[in-house]
Formats: sequence, structure tokens, C-alpha cells
Amino acid sequence: MHVLDRIARWAAVTPDRPAHLSQGRRLTYADLRRQSDALAAHLACVLPDDRSPVAVIGHKEPEMLVGFLGAVKAGHPYVPIDTSLPEQRIQRILALANASLVLRPADIAHLSQGDAQPPDRMLAPGDPYYVIFTSGSTGEPKGVVITLGNLTSFVDWMMAEHAPVEGQEVYLNQAPFSFDLSVMDLYMSLTTGGTLFSLVRDDIANPRQLYQTLAASQATVWVSTPSFAQMCLAERRFDAARLPTVRRFLFCGETLAAEVAAQLLDRFPAAQVWNTYGPTEATVATTSVQIDRAVLARFPDLPVGYPKPGSQILITDETRQPVPPGERGEIVIVGPNVSPGYLNRPDLNARVFQPVGGQPAYRTGDRGYLQDGLLFFEGRLDHQVKLHGYRIELGDVETHLRSLAMVRDAVVVPQMKHGKVEALVAFVILAEPPTGAAFEITQQLRGQLAERVPSYMVPGKFRYLDVFPITPNGKADRRALIETLA
Ligand code: AMP
Repeated sequence: MHVLDRIARWAAVTPDRPAHLSQGRRLTYADLRRQSDALAAHLACVLPDDRSPVAVIGHKEPEMLVGFLGAVKAGHPYVPIDTSLPEQRIQRILALANASLVLRPADIAHLSQGDAQPPDRMLAPGDPYYVIFTSGSTGEPKGVVITLGNLTSFVDWMMAEHAPVEGQEVYLNQAPFSFDLSVMDLYMSLTTGGTLFSLVRDDIANPRQLYQTLAASQATVWVSTPSFAQMCLAERRFDAARLPTVRRFLFCGETLAAEVAAQLLDRFPAAQVWNTYGPTEATVATTSVQIDRAVLARFPDLPVGYPKPGSQILITDETRQPVPPGERGEIVIVGPNVSPGYLNRPDLNARVFQPVGGQPAYRTGDRGYLQDGLLFFEGRLDHQVKLHGYRIELGDVETHLRSLAMVRDAVVVPQMKHGKVEALVAFVILAEPPTGAAFEITQQLRGQLAERVPSYMVPGKFRYLDVFPITPNGKADRRALIETLA
């Protein structure tokens, strides 16, 4: 069944059940259907039937869901943008997406009133459904196009694997809608008549409020980055006594440390913990595995899972040839969940989206190996990192730092702790000899950078040098810079 029909069905079955709860606001399935139909009818009047993207900008408001569904019902993919991004970055994304319309919550509230029939512009499986922008190494964000077929492939797999109780689950939504992890909770919830419970920035910034909100959520399925769960575990009261409804933890987006999984199993003895792996380019996740005591006892470094049925994981060498099982190489994802490519980036697409055996395939740039059919992730082959679950190209931060008048050159490296990125450190050569104290310069650079990139990309530490150490090839020696941090 079409994803939109699966969602619409709940407006008939449980019209008054909340589809979304956010900051005390509630959107029922009946509201979601009526408002998204009305918005779609309006969009069909003002936009050509050309599949051009519609941007939806906000921070977890119920209107965002109305905006997403309204856009696709009108035959347009949506571009979810969280307001935590600086205005310059938002403008760049809108330009790159060539968005035909920008919708904010107030616009959506206004345009979704009344009753109207949705237009007959049903998306086909090959049509784009959403476009999510991720960090690009040159400083330009990349728009990953996900089709209806990609999304359906992902949702069908999640349903088969997790068999949610229809009409009864509450999904915790931690990730902003601009991060594809949120697609897991949003679509698992909406297609099965669940309730999506959004945590907002203020909840997360204020630990006391956070635990109250979590307890009040009655969440049954927890979807977050491992970093977020780790932060929650710092609070002793984070356990099954306070959150008795949680029966499943689903993780994706970064390494799940064995210790985090073990603590969760201790504190929530009746719950299951799952690790899933995949990039935005292959629709949220491609592999999954339940982490139980046996898996914990067997693997000090946890596996990221078995491929979903119908998709395949290949490990390839530098010449792009598959390597034998057990050998390390680049992780390549093949199957119906692989995106058709980045928006308007034929150059990049030709490099990383080359079909394998007639099937869509994506070279992830991740390093790993397969053992008994299980995938193990071992880091990156390039300069992409994950900080608190956020995907960051170090080149993205460097390009924006170098564009600042005060900066002659900059190299950004990750500072690691227990195998995880703890912070970004910027090594900067200033354009002019400094006139003020280092902390003042840092403050200025931070402020200027924050106008250009999301706050999670602004390095936590700055170091000033006259020259960079150089590798034999004449490049800035990142390894030597990282060693100075030890
Ligand atoms: P994103 O597109 O933001 O989801 O980031 C995708 C990248 O996150 C992958 O290419 C991996 O480098 C990393 N990643 C995703 N899931 C996992 C996982 N379970 N364990 C370790 N790294 C992961």
C-alpha cells in the first residue's frame, strides 16, 4: 500500500488519536489528514506539477508534519530544514534545492484551514519523496534525494522486523526532521497509527525538564543516537522504574558502544536494544542486529548488523573489486533503498552512485568487514566524522573557516576519547599577527563561523599556529596535529 494511504487509513480508524505530540501541542490523525489535504489542494493551485522541492522550515512543530504530507500529496518532495541552522546555511540549501516554495509553521497553519480534496498527483515509486541535506566536503551541503520506493523499502523492512502493535505505540523523536534518523520514528509511527512524541531543543538543553518530559511521554519505542542515550544514562533515575513503557531502543547514526548497550540492558531488563547502520544516501539504515547479552559477550566492538532483505552489503578494495569475507575494505550498499543520487550533482553521483549488477549502489566511504554475514564498521576512509550523531565533513568546516577574513589557513581535526569523537579542534593560521588575546580571537571566529555553519560544526577548541606541520606529500599533516592534542 502507498505510504500516504497507510497513513490516511488511521484518520478513519482512530481519528482522535494523536499522530504528533510536541511541546504540549497535539495533532490528531483526523487533523493531519484534513490539514494536509487542504494544504495539498492549495499547493496544487499555486505550483506546477513538476516535482520541484518544497522546503519545510521549523523545529518539530505539528505543522511540519502537515507540511511534509501536504507537499507529497501535491506531488512535490519536501526538504526538511531545522531552524537550528544559521540563516546563511538555510539560504544556501534553498538555492541548491531550487525550492519552489518555502513553508514555515505559520504559513502551513494558514494554508491548511478548511476542507478540501487533495489533488490527484499521486507519487510513483521512482518519484522523489524527500530531499535531506548533509554536510559536503567542499563547504556546499549535498541534497540526498530519497524516492517513494526507497522509503517504502525501508518502512516495510522496519515493520517486518519490529512488528509494532498497530494503533498503540508511542515513538520517541529525538532527532530533528532534517536528520534522517527522524525518518525512522516518523514513518514507523505514522504508518502504524502510532503517536510521535517529539523532544524539542529546550527539553534536551535542560536535563531536569528532559527526564520529566521523557517520563511523561509514555514512549514505547525509543529512537535516538547512541550519544543521546549515553547522556540520559548519566542520570541515575533513567531506568525502567521511571520509564516503564519503553520496550525497544533503536539506534542509528554512529557507533553504539558496548558499554551503553550493556547499561541499557541492566536498567531496562525487559527492553530490546537494536543497533542499525546506514547513511542518509541509503534511506536511514541498511543493516540491523539485536544487541542482547550473547552478542555483548561475543563482540567487544559491536556489530552493526545483517543487511535488510533485498539489499546487499559488499566490501570492496581500492580497485572496487569485492574482497573475501573477513577482509577489510569500503562498505558498498546495493539495493532498493539506495538513493538515485544527490540533487544536481552529476559529478559526485558518477563517483559514488554506480549501479552494481543492475541495482542502485552507493559507495559509503565507510570502512568495514563482514563476518558470518554480520557487518562491522571501523571508521571512515575520508575526513567525515560523527559528533553526537551529527554528520560533519571536516572540509565543510575548514572551507568556511578559510573564508573568514581573519583566517589565512585552517585545518580541523577530531579529538578522540574512547574511540569516539569528543570535540572538533581547529588549527588556524591567522591572516594578520594577532592584536588581542587568543580567547578574544576565538570568540570572534566562533561568532563568524556560527553565521555560516550549524552550531554543532563550530569547533570546541581553537589553536593558533604560524605554520602547519607538512607531510612528505606537502599537505598539512593532520596526524601530527592530532598528536599535539594527546
Ligand atoms: P547519516 O547520513 O547522518 O546517517 O550518517 C551516516 C554515517 O554515519 C555512516 O556512513 C557511518 O559513517 C555512520 N554510522 C551510521 N550508523 C552507524 C552505526 N550503527 N555505527 C557506526 N557508525 C554509523
